[in-house]
Amino acid sequence: MYNKENIFYRILKSEIPAKIIYENDVALSFYDIRPLKKIHVLVITKGLYSNFGDFVANASIQEVKDFWATVSKVADLLEVSRTGYRIVSNNGPDSGQEVEHFHVHILGGEKL
Ligand code: 5GP
Repeated sequence: MYNKENIFYRILKSEIPAKIIYENDVALSFYDIRPLKKIHVLVITKGLYSNFGDFVANASIQEVKDFWATVSKVADLLEVSRTGYRIVSNNGPDSGQEVEHFHVHILGGEKL
């Protein structure tokens, strides 16, 4: 069950600012406010999914494909696809998921 009381929903609605890198019909990408690596970027769905399982179960095949293609495109824009990067998605309490809106972290810009 998706709960609109989360910070990424407010970023999607432009209620709070974010340093946006790229946007299309299915996804929005912006810099993480507390970077853990030289490059730390988030890609969030425009659809309202609380986590990875919710996304895979309820998004259309086209949306799933377009979302992951967007993650790859953002890695290209950041030029980490040349140097290497890690993608991470935290899901549920044991992972430490802080924001209950499905998102992927792109980490890179240095040796991980
Ligand atoms: P999670 O643990 O849910 O996978 O990660 C959520 C991420 O969102 C964290 O890395 C955190 O730093 C980032 N974050 C939390 N609030 C904000 C915000 O208001 N703006 C931005 N840009 N990032 C945020």
